[in-house]
Amino acid sequence: MGTQEISSRLVNDKEQLEKRIKAIEKDLANKRSQDFAEQAGENENNEVLEEILSETHKELNLVNSAIARLSSGQYATCSSCDNPINPERLSALPYTNTCINCAE
Ligand SMILES: [Zn+2]
Repeated sequence: MGTQEISSRLVNDKEQLEKRIKAIEKDLANKRSQDFAEQAGENENNEVLEEILSETHKELNLVNSAIARLSSGQYATCSSCDNPINPERLSALPYTNTCINCAE
């Protein structure tokens, strides 16, 4: 995969994640505005959504830092041991910042 291809893939991922975050936040806001009688049953649902929301934020942070590393030329370098990251690993996990050895 060329740099250009990785870059557009990451930017695309970023857009998808941002859309997902907006949709979840909207959903949570809608649920919170319901009347109290209905809210009791919704609380559990909200917890699941909030968990997904926090995971999505984490993923977005990873994607953003991958984009930053890409523009600084550090993209394919392990942030932990400075060895090159296997291209196959990057292709499977485009936002990873560690080589396979450091990930385990
Ligand atoms: Zn490493």
